Amino acid sequence: MPEKVQSADVVIIGAGIVGGSIAYHLCREPGLKVVCLEREGVAAGSTSRSAAAFRHQFSSRINVEMSLWSGRAYCDFSESMGCEPIFAQQGYLFLYSDPAQLEAASQRVAHQRALGVENVQVLDGPAACSLPALEDTLAADKIAGATWCPGDGFLHPTTITQVYYERAKELGLISRIGTRATTIERQNGKVTGVRLADDSLIEAPIVINAAGWWGNEVARMAGVEIPLVAVKRYLYLTNQLEPRRVSHFPMTVFDLGPYYRPESNGLLFGSDDRPKKPGGWQSYPPPSQDFAALLEAQDGVPEDFGRSLDGYGIEVLAEIAEFVPFFEEEVAIESIVCGYYEITPDEKALIGWDPRVGGLLHATGFSGHGVMHAPATGEIVRCLVRDKEPPFDIGPLRIDPLLRNEERDDPEVMVI
Ligand SMILES: Cc1cc2nc3c(=O)[nH]c(=O)nc-3n(C[C@H](O)[C@H](O)[C@H](O)COP(=O)(O)OP(=O)(O)OC[C@H]3O[C@@H](n4cnc5c(N)ncnc54)[C@H](O)[C@@H]3O)c2cc1C
Repeated sequence: MPEKVQSADVVIIGAGIVGGSIAYHLCREPGLKVVCLEREGVAAGSTSRSAAAFRHQFSSRINVEMSLWSGRAYCDFSESMGCEPIFAQQGYLFLYSDPAQLEAASQRVAHQRALGVENVQVLDGPAACSLPALEDTLAADKIAGATWCPGDGFLHPTTITQVYYERAKELGLISRIGTRATTIERQNGKVTGVRLADDSLIEAPIVINAAGWWGNEVARMAGVEIPLVAVKRYLYLTNQLEPRRVSHFPMTVFDLGPYYRPESNGLLFGSDDRPKKPGGWQSYPPPSQDFAALLEAQDGVPEDFGRSLDGYGIEVLAEIAEFVPFFEEEVAIESIVCGYYEITPDEKALIGWDPRVGGLLHATGFSGHGVMHAPATGEIVRCLVRDKEPPFDIGPLRIDPLLRNEERDDPEVMVI
């Protein structure tokens, strides 16, 4: 039987990687009584459906800083948390076929280096194609150059979430798995507690919305809307391939679109389809405000996105094969994983207090970056709850300008 609590200092809604990191960081604060509510299971949402890539290569200052902070935490994670390795630093390679795009990417690299990313670099075409980990697999005549960061790579999100959550429980977290929040109670414009599906109430002055793509549903429980839509994304897992050949590949992205990386004994691939689909990715498929229908659809693979010969997966495979010829002959789709990106208008996260409801703090809207930026998010939320300055300026992540229909500072163009 879960422990029945009537009150807490903080209630977190959601036990994905973001809620897990927040729980861990808050529980390290002495004397704070923290409850985490999770409707389904630890890491049951987008966290377990992610490509799990980690990179420092962003265009905005804020996302580079989120990666610098989180990267240090992930490098140290298995030792400090006492768990198996969770970070495969096999590098992250952005390849470009267009010299103008490469030039723009080179300027971003200068910006990243100025912010403190030490090992990111620009490579010309021959240098990119002869990276040892790639084993001469690229079509060299198609590659103008690349940006390369060998310290980047990919993570194990489910393990990280479970470890955060277990360590938080050891530090006193009150865990309520299988418990759905239904209403955020308010009085005089301030949060007073969270009502649960069984109609019981946990009184608390602070509620943290860590509900991922359900973030708007949780905001509505407090009588407000946040600018967040859920957009379906697909990952394709391939047949087994010669492990010695593929297991050392980095995360590799072509022209900010199709990408692949090793997974088990094969590969995982996907794409950012925005440039190619009419109306941009938000219309493919259309976002919905019907959250019950979206929940049903989380695992559903529509026919167009399946393995059929005219399906999206085969389309992406063919795009990658243009740059990596062995894809055409040797790679086949074996299974499909899908889930939702949680997307704000400028595709940057929403972290901070809601100015309309005292005590409501949002930590959602991470787009394709929530796994990599979870450690920094936990630390930022800890600082906000304790009324301290976060480790760096989080102005570009605040919700306030979006509520006034204004653009936030520090735009991000590197959204995959
Ligand atoms: C295909 C795909 C590829 C991706 N690739 C990457 C990548 O390469 N790198 C990267 O960093 N990120 C990637 N992402 C994004 C990343 O997965 C998400 O940003 C991240 O997992 C968000 O974590 P979260 O904890 O906020 O949300 P979630 O993991 O979705 O967790 C939210 C939790 O809240 C719970 N919840 C919701 N409502 C309630 C309620 N009312 N009461 C109680 N509990 C509730 C849900 O059950 C869920 O467990 C990818 C996402 C997808 C879909």
